[in-house]
Amino acid sequence: MAGQNDWTVGNLYPSPGGIGGFWKQPDPGGLVYPQQVRASSDYLSVKPFSELTGSFIGSCGHSFNQVYVFREYDYDNDVSVALLCCNLCGCVQRTISPFEAALMGNEGSLQNALLYP
Ligand SMILES: [Zn+2]
Repeated sequence: MAGQNDWTVGNLYPSPGGIGGFWKQPDPGGLVYPQQVRASSDYLSVKPFSELTGSFIGSCGHSFNQVYVFREYDYDNDVSVALLCCNLCGCVQRTISPFEAALMGNEGSLQNALLYP
C-alpha cells in the first residue's frame, strides 16, 4: 500500500483546520489560535479566569486533561500509529506505534505517555 502521511507531530490533525475545521496555526509546529484565556489573578473581579488549568499544556498552547487518540497509518515506517492529540484543536502531541502498543500496559503505552511526557 503506497501513500503519504497526512499528519505530522506538532501540527493540526486533520489538517488543515484541526477538529471542527476552524483552528488556525500560522507557524507550523507553533501555537494554535484561538488561544484560551490567560490567567487573571484578580479573584474578586468579573474578568475571565484562566482556562489554562488542565493537567497538560500542548505544543499548541492549549490546556487539557485528556488526549484524543486517533488511529492512523505511518507510511514512512510502514506501521500503524496512535496519534495523541490535543482534545481542543487536534494538534498532534506525540505518537505511539504500532497502534496496539498504546493499549498495552508496557513502557510504550498511552498511560505511560501521559504520566511521563
Ligand atoms: Zn490544542
